[in-house]
Amino acid sequence: MWPVSETYPFTHKQMKNHSTTLHTALEAEMDKILGCIHCGLCLPACPTYQQVGNENDSPRGRIYLMRAVAEGRLETTTPAFARHIDLCLGCRACETACPAGVNYGFLLESARETLLEQKAQPGGGLQKGLLKFALRHIFPYPGRLRVAFTLSRWMRNNRLLQFAYRKGWVKSVSPSADFALSLLMTTQPQWGGAARGETHSNVVADVVPRPVSVFTGCVMEGLFKHANDATKRVLRINGGQLDPVPEQVCCGALHAHAGDVETARKLARQNIDAFDEFLRAGNNVKNLPTIIINAAGCGALLKEYGELLKHDAQYAERARLFSSRVKDITEFLAQGGLVQGAPIQKKVTYDAPCHLYHAQRVTNAPQQLLAAIPGLEYKPLEGLQDCCGGAGIYNLSEPEMSGKILSDKMSKVKATEAELLVTANPGCHMQLGAGVRSYGANCSVTHIVELLDESYRQAGYYETEQQS
Ligand code: SF4
Ligand code: SF4
Repeated sequence: MWPVSETYPFTHKQMKNHSTTLHTALEAEMDKILGCIHCGLCLPACPTYQQVGNENDSPRGRIYLMRAVAEGRLETTTPAFARHIDLCLGCRACETACPAGVNYGFLLESARETLLEQKAQPGGGLQKGLLKFALRHIFPYPGRLRVAFTLSRWMRNNRLLQFAYRKGWVKSVSPSADFALSLLMTTQPQWGGAARGETHSNVVADVVPRPVSVFTGCVMEGLFKHANDATKRVLRINGGQLDPVPEQVCCGALHAHAGDVETARKLARQNIDAFDEFLRAGNNVKNLPTIIINAAGCGALLKEYGELLKHDAQYAERARLFSSRVKDITEFLAQGGLVQGAPIQKKVTYDAPCHLYHAQRVTNAPQQLLAAIPGLEYKPLEGLQDCCGGAGIYNLSEPEMSGKILSDKMSKVKATEAELLVTANPGCHMQLGAGVRSYGANCSVTHIVELLDESYRQAGYYETEQQS
């Protein structure tokens, strides 16, 4: 039997009975909580447990705390509860390690929702306050988001700021501002794809046409439009018949991970309505319409809209249909067979986004795509499935823990001696880009689809080049 009383430092005074209406979000997930058999097999996979060695910062420990709250034995206002839940990256490495199939991701969101309902999260200072403000008052509104990303791109492209950043002046004033700027600077296009804009591709014979629509996302469209454009070009070459859905909004992943599940549900309903016509149009065609996503964090939530809205009588069925039609760009291309491009003579390594590897269980498709690009020398990355510490906005809200995890990751990246570090999620891209600069790794970071796009460009597939 697992020694509960020795492991948890909570007193009986803290674990007192209180009204069950206070922790409904966790109570509703009791079946998932009880699925944990306390075997501990998830502990070696958990980055926070590996860093601090505290059971309360392990998946098993956190589930135990959630159970104590759901059963009314522990006050959610106990600061330690919020702290251990806050320190979780939400990487979901514990899910792939768990033999009992515990769905930890939903439990974490419910725990954070419970904390939010009771306003029991610790303040967290200016940085956390700004992040909370942005999630609540900017991300759900497309107009405000456009303004925020226009400002971000202006900062990214500002010569004076770039100069001060390169000279280390920003760092000397504020290391945390320098790190935030580093995250932003790494979103610069690597391959000149932005200049090519919506380039048309040559039609490739023998490719089966497939109806697709790209979920463009907010961070991807705001800061990585070059990767979105590359995604569309690569899809066209591989038979994608693109149908744009301009009414789409932010997926809600950052909100769900922060516990604002109600906003995530609201955004999910808006997206389901937006893609309704596209999905229904496909009922008469042989290849069902597919929603393509190139950001792993967003993709994981889009695939879970069915679970998110399972109690919504009006949307539950449509949410399940929506989720069943979502595919990450890597799995879509790997399943369909890939048109071959020109050789790229580079040493390359791949770091798996947690929400692609652990949450979506897309484990081999990215390497299959890399293997299909001629000329690449693949250098395997030790622990490619381990979190980089980015975890959405975790690198800004928990910089100390995030920095330790990034340091471990960068040591392994440097050991590969790769020239290109490939990933498939904007948060990981920014974190790894900042890591490359901080730790002096001799490589550049790129989205996998941009590498494929470059291979097609060099093969001469893009016949019309336009300045955007
Ligand atoms: S999500 Fe990641 S950090 Fe959180 S408990 Fe699971 S393995 Fe640990
Ligand atoms: S591996 Fe699964 S069942 Fe075992 S302790 Fe971790 S969460 Fe619980």
